[in-house]
Amino acid sequence: MTIHDDTLVLDTHIDIRWPETPDWTGETRQLVDLPKMRAGGMNAAIFIAYVGQGKRDPAGHAAAGARAEAMLRHIAARAAISGTRFCATPDALEACFAAGDTAVLSAVENGYAMGHDLGRIGLWRSLGAVYLTLTHDGHNDLSDSARPRAALGDAPAEHGGLSKLGEAAIAEMNARGLMVDVSHVAKPGMLRAAVLSRSPVVATHTACAALCPHPRGLDDEQLDALRACGGLAQITAVPSFLRPPAPNAPGQAGVADLVDHIDHAVRRIGLDHVGISSDFDGGGAVMGWANAAETGAVTAELERRGYGAREIGLLWSGNFLRVWRQVLRLTA
Ligand SMILES: [Zn+2]
Repeated sequence: MTIHDDTLVLDTHIDIRWPETPDWTGETRQLVDLPKMRAGGMNAAIFIAYVGQGKRDPAGHAAAGARAEAMLRHIAARAAISGTRFCATPDALEACFAAGDTAVLSAVENGYAMGHDLGRIGLWRSLGAVYLTLTHDGHNDLSDSARPRAALGDAPAEHGGLSKLGEAAIAEMNARGLMVDVSHVAKPGMLRAAVLSRSPVVATHTACAALCPHPRGLDDEQLDALRACGGLAQITAVPSFLRPPAPNAPGQAGVADLVDHIDHAVRRIGLDHVGISSDFDGGGAVMGWANAAETGAVTAELERRGYGAREIGLLWSGNFLRVWRQVLRLTA
């Protein structure tokens, strides 16, 4: 057995097509489907109920909430076939891996989907969601986004961090055991969330701004804040986060660039605070890890750089499982 085969390989952020979703149990044109996951030794995927930022009015909030809920129900139903399991707890995920089955997990991206209703947080957790990403691109009523959208009327900064509603949402997430994802959140809100949250916060799909200045990357101060709260930086395979554009050499990012960012985060905040995600079907894919079938290439590059079985296990899932357990333990 290779290290890759022996490792619980968990990808913490994968989008799905919605609402016209192809049958994931057969070959599709998506970067992730069940055959590709099996071929690539990707044992577990957190699929995202993603809601784009829209109008912050009652109709907009209602539509966003309905969409997130429908997507969560769809994702759970993906595991209805034999050889797959929907996993809503760390124990279930580990048992799924031990049985040789493929794990399906879910999360919500964009706190916009809760509108002003904190009750949504408990509903999503009861549907099995692992985390909520506080914002997407564009400010919402919880926090400023790292990428304001002028088309939505966004000022560069609106709340200057978290709003009162955003703070209340974090308290409710802590109480319900829904992890706080600070990806997409503007730096002041991200730093505030890391301090305010009673349980560690996670950036489920991010990169290191020290290596590639990009509003979606975390600078070293933000990485330090994740270590300080016991959280995680899950380095993701979005090319523009990994390698700055070079007008005369449109070089594409590859697996080596991804692992450069992993190396940087490990050096800065320690192996225990770093993980991996693809953002497949949501903008992620690099040369060498272009879809789920090629997931072994990431492990191979980590091995080439001297990471052993223990370290690779922590990066792919061990750290995430540890933090997830902590989040569940620290509920009210
Ligand atoms: Zn995202």
